[in-house]
Amino acid sequence: MLVMKFGGSSLATADRMQQVIALTAAACAGRHAHNPGEDQGQTQDDNRETVGLVVSALGGVTDQLVRLQSAALRGENADAERAALGNRHLDLLAQLPSLSEAVQAQLRGAIGQRLQQLDRDLDGVRLLRACPDEVQARILACGEQLSVLIVEALLRARDLRVQLVDPATLIRTQGPVLESTPQLEKIDALGAALRTLPVDVILLPGFIGADERGTLTLLGRNGSDYSGALLAYALDASLCEIWTDVDGVYSADPRRVPHAQLLDSLSYEEAMELSWFGAKVLHPKTIGPLALKRIDIRIRNTLNPSAPGTHIGPRQSVVPSLARGLTLLDQVALITLSGPGMQGVPGIAARIFAAVAREQISVMLITQGSSEFSLSFAVPAREQARAIAALEQDLALERRSELIRPFDVLADVAILTLVGDGLHQQRGVAGRFFAALAATRVNVIAIAQGSSERSISAVIGRNESERGLRGVHQQFFESRQRIEVFLIGTGTVGSALLEQLDSQQEFLRAHGIDLRLCGVANSRQLRLSNDGMAPAAAKQALADGEAFSIDRLISHISNNGYLNPVIVDCTSDADIARAQLKALEQGIHVVTANKKANTFDMAFYRALRQTADRQNCRYLYETNVGAALPVIDTLQNLIKSGDALQRFAGILSGSLSYVFGLLDDGVAFSDAVKDARSRGFTEPDPRDDLSGMDVARKLLILLRESGQLAELGDVDVQSIFPPDFDVGGSVDAFMARLPQVDAYFASKMQRLQAERKTLRFAGEIADGRCRVGLMEVDAGHPLFAIKGGENALAFYTRRYQPVPLVIRGYGAGAAVTAGGVFADILRTVSFHPARKSD
Ligand code: ADP
Ligand code: ASP
Ligand code: MG
Repeated sequence: MLVMKFGGSSLATADRMQQVIALTAAACAGRHAHNPGEDQGQTQDDNRETVGLVVSALGGVTDQLVRLQSAALRGENADAERAALGNRHLDLLAQLPSLSEAVQAQLRGAIGQRLQQLDRDLDGVRLLRACPDEVQARILACGEQLSVLIVEALLRARDLRVQLVDPATLIRTQGPVLESTPQLEKIDALGAALRTLPVDVILLPGFIGADERGTLTLLGRNGSDYSGALLAYALDASLCEIWTDVDGVYSADPRRVPHAQLLDSLSYEEAMELSWFGAKVLHPKTIGPLALKRIDIRIRNTLNPSAPGTHIGPRQSVVPSLARGLTLLDQVALITLSGPGMQGVPGIAARIFAAVAREQISVMLITQGSSEFSLSFAVPAREQARAIAALEQDLALERRSELIRPFDVLADVAILTLVGDGLHQQRGVAGRFFAALAATRVNVIAIAQGSSERSISAVIGRNESERGLRGVHQQFFESRQRIEVFLIGTGTVGSALLEQLDSQQEFLRAHGIDLRLCGVANSRQLRLSNDGMAPAAAKQALADGEAFSIDRLISHISNNGYLNPVIVDCTSDADIARAQLKALEQGIHVVTANKKANTFDMAFYRALRQTADRQNCRYLYETNVGAALPVIDTLQNLIKSGDALQRFAGILSGSLSYVFGLLDDGVAFSDAVKDARSRGFTEPDPRDDLSGMDVARKLLILLRESGQLAELGDVDVQSIFPPDFDVGGSVDAFMARLPQVDAYFASKMQRLQAERKTLRFAGEIADGRCRVGLMEVDAGHPLFAIKGGENALAFYTRRYQPVPLVIRGYGAGAAVTAGGVFADILRTVSFHPARKSD
């Protein structure tokens, strides 16, 4: 036999309700796809099957009843809400043309009567300002009692034979009225009479039971799933279907995690763990009775009945995969008890949990220090006050004598749980779980591993919980790693980067990286887009952006749930450089082509690195020296592996490499500068290059990377001009005056060429001195042949001498620099390859 349970979401509108009736009728007619793909041919009478049917209240109605009850308890008349509740049912009736006018009239009467009883209960509560559990149960049960009337009438209108079951005659419970416990043996016995009934549909309202005395009880919120399981148990069904509004069980709540994956199948144990830790798609207690009789479960979508759904059944002997699902319980409080009275005192834990159990509060997670010095446990946030009161009472003596310190309560926490039968068989799962949380900037407050080893839970702050959920989900279940880029600076390098982001996006997607441009800014404007914007259109979009402020950008990133945000600084601005530290403090990666931050004082230089380490984020600046040439990384690797820099000589300026290369060919100095300037190889004011300051900054960075403490002032920047040459005035005046030095450079070159040498503009580290200026090099020197805009860096180290390690290639230009920035951006994705769960 088949049992179908339809949730409130499947009954929210008239259309959906018709769909429920159609699905039930099809099942009765034997046209039900027990095994999806089975022939769905002609109906034959002898094919008819009895179907068990459980329905919830119309979607949202139980919440409405809760609100009405709370209002009554406060002594308030919630007339509008009460009227809405009644109208909701009457309007629905009016939209069901298959019901004759006579049936509609009869139903209106029955609904009216049930609502009158509701009003009497609410009046009583309002008068007494108290609501005994029995009355509350009656109030909340109203939703199912109303919906079942309508469903029954619709089934009969289809000529189906219906047996409406009063829950009091089947769902026998004991214990607390609002969360009562079904007595399975009794239910099994009571069900026997139903199994052979000659009807099409055995219809039961969900959520409701009754105790020994016949008093109405409830199975707890969301408890209709449980009723479905109990009816399947009572009828010895072979399959219990839970019909809802999603295609099945997903790797995480699909409403919260857009890339959640639908699961084909789960073991009973996995489903139980997932639902216990918050997967609302199934009430946690549903599995128990079904697993006892090995009844299969399928979660299916009323709105998409052709989808096969998720199958839940006995555990497969071969565990198919690592992690199956991730859940978040976000209305949780963590209570911690500590003090000398907790240390090695036998029975203290038993007393703590006895106190909480007496209040019928379920403990969701427990962690304990091995010294037993402290014990923390999580309870639903709404139970926190009662739990504390019970503990105060039971541990009053210990509290008075200060054997136990005041209870520590964290009221705003959430529990994030990773579930899977195979978790304990895999090394490194916990490591990946916590690394993913760290990478998403989420702080872990407490940790617990399920004793079944089927789950790992972390208690985290509620305000970080959504981000944590999505970050861990991405690590375990999504094949793509996310990078969210916030670009500052749309000059030559920034623009080239935008072009490269645009052309590479498809390639990256195909290679598992989901790179999104979530923000772009220039010195005036800022444009943000949480989901990412097209890089090609970004500059245009910037035109209608908001006013730029670096603080606003940083706070926007930290207040939104970005998974892997990177600020990319393509400016040469000192204020942005200073703000890089603030970004790192917020756990945001920084990629910078801007050299300023690395050349402020040593204290700042250190702070950048310490902060990045502490916040577990990357600070990357490969393009600070030699654009995309692999300079910084190479030098760092040399130093890390125990080598030491002894001497360095390098041409670190592409523009000056070009200028001095032309001198080799006999071009006059002023013409060489003019040529370089007209080709855009120099800054608009060529003195910015000729002054050597830019090279000095690069040299300082190399020096610091090699482990030395140095400031910009330690670099001796020597002027390339004769002492009496005036470098002041406007650019034009300077350019007009420049031919005055042609003879000076020509005579130098003449002398050097006679000696088979040449002149280079270089940076040099030697004998503890750091110098930027002209360097005379002979034909055997690694810099002799470097011209035409190339850079070359010669590192003489303990290992590389007398022949140095030379890195050579184009070290300037928008495209290569942007390429280097791009490579740094890609280095921010965590080194754990994202793996699909199966
Ligand atoms: P019903 O009204 O049918 O009982 P519920 O709202 O109680 O439906 O449960 C269905 C909802 O459960 C889905 O809409 C979904 O948002 C939520 N949910 C939470 N976790 C999961 C999960 N892992 N897989 C599927 N749905 C989930
Ligand atoms: N109507 C009840 C509730 O909303 C039971 C259910 O829908 O499962 O909690
Ligand atoms: Mg539900």
